[in-house]
Amino acid sequence: MIPAGFEYRRAGTVDEAIELLGSDPDAKVLAGGHSLIPLLRLRFARPSLLVDIGRLGELRYVREDGDRIAIGALTRYADLAADPLLTERCAPLARAASLVGDPQVRHRGTIGGAVAHGDPASDAPPVLLALDADFVVRGPSGERTVPAAAFFTGMFDVTLEPQEILTEIRVPAATGAYLKFVRREHDWATVGVAATRSNGSVHVGLTSMGATPLRARGVEEALANGASAAEAAERAAEGTSPPSDVAGSAEYREHLARVLVRRALESL
Ligand code: FAD
Repeated sequence: MIPAGFEYRRAGTVDEAIELLGSDPDAKVLAGGHSLIPLLRLRFARPSLLVDIGRLGELRYVREDGDRIAIGALTRYADLAADPLLTERCAPLARAASLVGDPQVRHRGTIGGAVAHGDPASDAPPVLLALDADFVVRGPSGERTVPAAAFFTGMFDVTLEPQEILTEIRVPAATGAYLKFVRREHDWATVGVAATRSNGSVHVGLTSMGATPLRARGVEEALANGASAAEAAERAAEGTSPPSDVAGSAEYREHLARVLVRRALESL
């Protein structure tokens, strides 16, 4: 289908983008377009103004910042997957980026777009949850930092206000794994599992196991109490509400979560 009509403005800076967003209550940010454009074409989204931030080079970077790694919101999956700093110091995130969609999606889609979109089937957000990432957000009244645990509020719903732009994601150094089960190459995850070890703690994030990206708190608690990987993994589906769809039933996803969590923990 052809999208409904809209105005298009390309922002030259983040501040200009915030100003443009303030000029129209139905404005929306466009980054890589790989989630928003399909929604426009289906007419599930009908913004009257698109504010294109896709070419803002100031938001495309991966760099060390004290004991954290700072990632610009417009950094593309392909950049993340190939980045030497991320590959060495935060391998699970680089790995998740390398498994997103196909090369075209990875060369256009941005990590900030994935986070702002709030899709529970997205690969990067559960890794960021497991890492206790911080999200830096800028709006008309300045900058605020939101912890990942408070960011994802519902299905396709996050804490961003309409005039706010996600500018940076901050993660700690970590080792770990991201395992993605797909029915066909390049598919969305039937289930994805992130297991990260940072500062001595092991955290587990889940993709496609509920309305938002989730932490497997039962698994983490079991590990903290001395359970083995196999014992802890038995609790992988606790507190989840996976969908049943063409990729698999809820029961199948619960089974997959237990298997993938065990494998991910055993690889740490
Ligand atoms: P856009 O589509 O431009 O924007 C998405 C939403 O976020 C919009 O609401 C927009 O207003 C908002 N937004 C974007 N950037 C910002 C910002 N900085 N601040 C505030 N709001 C912002 N994803 C996976 O995780 N795994 C997959 O396997 C996968 N497969 C895919 C296959 C196909 C064929 C396609 C088309 C997409 C797939 N995706 C997959 C989704 C892809 O990762 C998206 O590109 C990504 O989720 C969104 O990033 P974007 O830069 O394209 O955002």
